[in-house]
Amino acid sequence: MRSAEDILTELRALRAGDLPTHGGRTLAYVYDSGLDGVDDLAAAAHALASSANGLDPTAFPSLLRMENDLVAATSELVGGTPRTVGSVTSGGTESCVLAVLAAREGNSGVAEPNVVLPATAHAAFHKAAHLFRVRPVVVPVDPKTFRADPEAMAAAIDDDTVLVVASAPSYAHGVVDPIAEIAAAAASRGVRTHVDACIGGWVLPYFRRLGRAVPEFGFAVEGVTSVSVDLHKYAYCPKGTSVLLHADAELRRGHYFASADWPGYTMLNSTLQSTRSGGPLAAAWAVLHHIGDDGYLALAEATLEAVEAVRAEVEALDGLRLVAEPGATLLALTTDDDRLDLFVVADEMAARGWYVQPQFAHQSSPANLHLTITASNRGSEGDFAAALRDSVRAARAAGPVVVDEGIAAFLADLDPDALTSEEFGQLLAAAGMGGGAGLPERMAEVNAMLALARPALRERLLQEFLGLLYQPS
Ligand SMILES: *Cc1c(COP(=O)(O)O)cnc(C)c1O
Repeated sequence: MRSAEDILTELRALRAGDLPTHGGRTLAYVYDSGLDGVDDLAAAAHALASSANGLDPTAFPSLLRMENDLVAATSELVGGTPRTVGSVTSGGTESCVLAVLAAREGNSGVAEPNVVLPATAHAAFHKAAHLFRVRPVVVPVDPKTFRADPEAMAAAIDDDTVLVVASAPSYAHGVVDPIAEIAAAAASRGVRTHVDACIGGWVLPYFRRLGRAVPEFGFAVEGVTSVSVDLHKYAYCPKGTSVLLHADAELRRGHYFASADWPGYTMLNSTLQSTRSGGPLAAAWAVLHHIGDDGYLALAEATLEAVEAVRAEVEALDGLRLVAEPGATLLALTTDDDRLDLFVVADEMAARGWYVQPQFAHQSSPANLHLTITASNRGSEGDFAAALRDSVRAARAAGPVVVDEGIAAFLADLDPDALTSEEFGQLLAAAGMGGGAGLPERMAEVNAMLALARPALRERLLQEFLGLLYQPS
């Protein structure tokens, strides 16, 4: 047998090639409280429960207890009532997907159900629509503020609508939708409203307590029937936990599943998973109790200060501006300067040890760089701004990536359904995204080409790319 120490050494070496999850230099994907000891506690709690199986809560009552505790804590934060119930899921996408499933199953008389989404709703809802064959009715948002348009959403509701969605805030722009108006319009038609507070749910209530003007977004709003809150975002828990709340048990019923139609145990599931590790649940339970209400308030204050400091730095920087007025902790940066290629800026930031997330143009939303600000960014806003300033200067000096006209024309005409996997492989290799060799150091060239592909083509290209990445080693 190979020694445990040897294996862990190899694992550490593998992990050293990843983006850092601590220190505030990775401005997407990860959430860092900056607090000492939280990781160790979470790891210890995870280890205590990772072999326990949430498949049967009567066999593992500790998991049942911890799940009910997490649901209660989340409910309290977002205005739940004594009737509010919920489930702990594996993440925000599962929570959103289950909200759609519950709405579809709760309206089983509707033959061709649809869900009304603002254009800024998270892609998780498109995944739900795809999985469950619910039609997404996508409503453009206000082209300047990027907030959902409640009148247009109301007009989009029809007799087949089973769910209306609003975000608090949206991931791409970080703006909070006019939830009260949207929920009122849905309720007047007898339709459910899901508030996607996956990213804002654990921080906006604290911003309000800190004196910010945060509109109500949870169950205090008339007509809101479900709310999702990710614990693995601003509750600073390890990856693998989100909470989906429903206003009452009847609304939740549709995402439960039971099957007695086989000779084994009666399969009884509250979420998409069946065997469910107790690890993430126990880790989240431990972190929540450890940080506590005062701790989260302090973390929210540090985060708010960091958001304001970064915002001020960006506004002082020549060439960049915010896409939208931030309603929470997310900033989207864009430019009006044709000579400044934001994807080159992202590469320049990476070369300086900072990860900012490129977002492609979509409808009225320009290409932009997404920043998720967390408590760990407090104190290093000046370093970030200095790196950003240098990156903008370097990107201006380098000029924008220019895609060959022939390639651009080829991409514009390409029908993704007409290509074989082999042809996609050749195309990806030409774009610097061949398998095996791994990713190019600089992504701007790849992003420039992807930006020219229509969304359907980009989706297909990236799926083929994923297939090349996931090959047995
Ligand atoms: C992160 C996020 C999701 C999806 O959550 P995952 O945990 O990545 O699956 C959904 N909605 C919003 C608003 C989010 O920020």
